[in-house]
Amino acid sequence: MKFLVDQPLGGLAKRLRFLGFDSALRRLIPTDPGTLPPPAPDTYILTRQEAFKKLARNDLVILSASTPQAQFEEVIHRLKISRRGLSPLSRCSRCNELMRRVRRDQVQGLVPEHVFHHFSEFYECPGCRRIFWPGSHLAGITKKLLKNMENIGKGS
Ligand SMILES: [Zn+2]
Repeated sequence: MKFLVDQPLGGLAKRLRFLGFDSALRRLIPTDPGTLPPPAPDTYILTRQEAFKKLARNDLVILSASTPQAQFEEVIHRLKISRRGLSPLSRCSRCNELMRRVRRDQVQGLVPEHVFHHFSEFYECPGCRRIFWPGSHLAGITKKLLKNMENIGKGS
């Protein structure tokens, strides 16, 4: 599953990227159909702009929730996304790029010293060059989102 996310919903796009979803951010304008790509397999467009309703496209998901976290939960619920098949922490939340594994000796000096000593697995975003590791702040956020998903699944 892939997403095209309306520009104001950046917080939602970040959350989807933490779970590994390809979530491009683009400004979508209802009066300018050119801003919407043609429907693509397994790709959903996420927006809060009611004006898109008149397009009546099946791939258009018009969200009602106002906070990024509530929007995230709405997407999970409405598209019935489960944890199965997800690749959490495979994608940079800032750039939407897939991260690549880097050797431990390549991150020396780039991560805090205690991190360098305690972890052996490191990933780098080819876009912004940020380094990630299991146990980082981002891993914590992702864990929380996965927990959220489980609760949503139980509620429906
Ligand atoms: Zn990045």
